[in-house]
This record gives sequence, structure tokens and C-alpha cells, in this order.
Amino acid sequence: MIIRKKFRFEGAHIVRNCTSQRCRENIHGHSYEVEVFLKSNHLDNGFMVMDFVLLNNVAEFIHSFDHAFTLWDKELEDVKDAIYRINARVAEIPVSPSAEGYALLFFFVISRIISSAKMINGEANVRLHAIRVHETLSGYAEASAEDLEMVTFSIADLKLNGGIQKEWKDNSWWRLIGGL
Ligand SMILES: [Zn+2]
Repeated sequence: MIIRKKFRFEGAHIVRNCTSQRCRENIHGHSYEVEVFLKSNHLDNGFMVMDFVLLNNVAEFIHSFDHAFTLWDKELEDVKDAIYRINARVAEIPVSPSAEGYALLFFFVISRIISSAKMINGEANVRLHAIRVHETLSGYAEASAEDLEMVTFSIADLKLNGGIQKEWKDNSWWRLIGGL
């Protein structure tokens, strides 16, 4: 059985090398929607795959990108310097911040958050099935486990800066997946 939870964030980026000149040459923003699909062949004591309250850490992670600039780590150094100078919240990531890049990164991180979550009510075999990132009302990118073959990175390559981390209520999930 598959369950799905939707999250939102307002994010800014620039997508270098993309076909659209507007996207590759201008800092701009989107109202993102992120759908998290979870799958299990087992139900917990309440006949649920997993109570959504167990996704609080996933929410904290996704909201790290809200009102933040998402910066590709291959960005020009002088642009990087300027972004860090003018923004309190910067997420530096090892993939380009296209919807596809976000979907791959979110799949990688959220699958680790789910695997490290403490199951407390008989949940079993819960795994991340897919991540869907909507950048506009009409389009989305979806990533699942096999798509991670397209990229190579680790948690250490994801840099959520101090301006982001100071707003977290709890950072134990980040430590559990190797972020600290
Ligand atoms: Zn864009």
C-alpha cells in the first residue's frame, strides 16, 4: 500500500545550463510542492502504513529550503560569495536545483530519514517509494530509488547553513543520517 504526504516551500534558485535563457540567467523563485510517497506491505496497530506525525523530521528537512536560496555547489565562486553575503538562509547542494535535482536530493535524504525513524506502533517495512517535486502548477519531476544511479553524492555534500539550522526545533534526525 502507498500513502502520500504533501509539503510546500517557497524557494529561490538559478538553473545554470538549462535550455531556457530566463531560467539560466536570472535568480527567481517558485512555490514548490513536494509529494512524499511511502510504501509498506504491513499495517501498524492503527491500520496505517505510518502515522504522518512520524514525518515531522521530513517536514523540518523540506522546510529548510523555505525562503532560502538553493545554490549549486558548481556555481561561480563570485556568485556563491554574493549569495552567502546577502542571504541568511542558503542550501548548497551537490546537484543543480532543477525540479529533477531536488527530487533526487530529496529522495536520497528522506529515504535516510525514514530508515532512521523510530517506529513505535507496530509499523514495519516502511520505505520511501517516490518523491515528486512540483516547480509549477503544470509540471513535476519524480524520483525513485533506481534514479539515484544518475548521481553520486553523500550527505556531507549537502550544506544547510547556520541561518537554516538555527531555526530547526530538533537536529537529531540530521545527526542520525550523518549530517553533523
Ligand atoms: Zn526555476
